[in-house]
Amino acid sequence: MSQNILFLAHVSEAGNTLPKASYAVLGAALKLSRQLGTRLTIGLIGGDVSAAAETVAAAGADRILAVAGPDFSGARYASDAAAAEAICRSAGADLILAPATSRFMRVLAGVAHRLTGCVDTHVTSLEAVDGGVRATRWHYRQRIEGVIRRDTRPWIVLLESGCHAAFIGTPGAAQVEQIPVALPKVATRTVITGIRAPKSEVQTIRPDASLLFVAGAGWTKKQADGKTHVDQAETLILDFLRVSGASLGGSKSLVDQTGESQAVLGFMTHLNQVGQTGSTPRHPKGLSTCCHGEEPHVVGWRFINERHAVNLDPNCGWARGKADVLYVADAFEVLAKLNVLLAQRNRTSPEPAAHGALVN
Ligand SMILES: Cc1cc2nc3c(=O)[nH]c(=O)nc-3n(C[C@H](O)[C@H](O)[C@H](O)COP(=O)(O)OP(=O)(O)OC[C@H]3O[C@@H](n4cnc5c(N)ncnc54)[C@H](O)[C@@H]3O)c2cc1C
Repeated sequence: MSQNILFLAHVSEAGNTLPKASYAVLGAALKLSRQLGTRLTIGLIGGDVSAAAETVAAAGADRILAVAGPDFSGARYASDAAAAEAICRSAGADLILAPATSRFMRVLAGVAHRLTGCVDTHVTSLEAVDGGVRATRWHYRQRIEGVIRRDTRPWIVLLESGCHAAFIGTPGAAQVEQIPVALPKVATRTVITGIRAPKSEVQTIRPDASLLFVAGAGWTKKQADGKTHVDQAETLILDFLRVSGASLGGSKSLVDQTGESQAVLGFMTHLNQVGQTGSTPRHPKGLSTCCHGEEPHVVGWRFINERHAVNLDPNCGWARGKADVLYVADAFEVLAKLNVLLAQRNRTSPEPAAHGALVN
């Protein structure tokens, strides 16, 4: 079965590049088109795609198609669906690969329907097998891996971020074919008038960090002196995030305390929760502190490659084979020491923090 591949992307909010996850999808699309010996088309949607097109020019696609203009700058179902449909039809692609951004997650299932094709979301890998394509995705909170092969074409696949090496190419001149799309008036009636986001003093969720730092309810529990030390916990954790560049996760018990009006860490929200009813982030390393390591929590660690934990209890859940290294220690003391060491290293290293590497 022939597999003309279309890599479909929208420009980032800043407008001069594509969202980071898109370059990983382009990397996957290039690999697949080489393996299958098929043509690759790039399709771009946005207010002005010229700068973004230059960032993918070196990919060597057969064609770069675009639907561009003020009507296509922001996320909106009607205009995004019309743009994606027009690009897919013009490309005549059998396989359409797109990043699982919130903008595309809302729209591409509808586009598949318009094209009488099919769609799969949350795909984590794509492989060429026997001249065809095999996709995988996780089910039941990352416990079961499903393998998908489909005969229906076109097949739209939304790839999760962090699952493939990103395409890196020197930006260059790009020849872009503009696809005209005339939107009916009804397709432009939804207008974004502003964005309301939860107030956060600190940006704690950093999907690109090398380290995921997870705090558990132990940080707010009575310590050896019979008292809680929440203020100290806040300072230690915020200092650690600053000097390490880590992303912050929380256990359900800790984030739930906000709703129960107990003393809590002010910067911890439900968005930080990792686990079965939380998120499943992807980071090379993870450090859990004051968290027991129970199964529904550990599910959120499914894609953390190297797991370290600090717990006072040598019989905590982490001790049962769920962490690569368990430090039986007081997390308050460990973090205070780590912060000093990392601050020292940052002073001497030309590339401070941000790598989130654990101190060996
Ligand atoms: C259906 C279902 C879904 C769930 N989904 C999730 C989920 O998505 N995410 C999630 O996290 N949980 C989830 N849970 C809850 C989960 O089972 C655990 O109850 C929860 O994760 C426990 O949080 P914790 O380890 O922070 O708190 P605790 O169990 O209270 O553990 C606190 C730990 O801190 C340690 N500690 C205290 N002081 C220190 C110190 N100074 N130094 C070092 N260690 C110290 C203690 O030894 C203790 O082990 C779910 C449960 C159910 C039933």
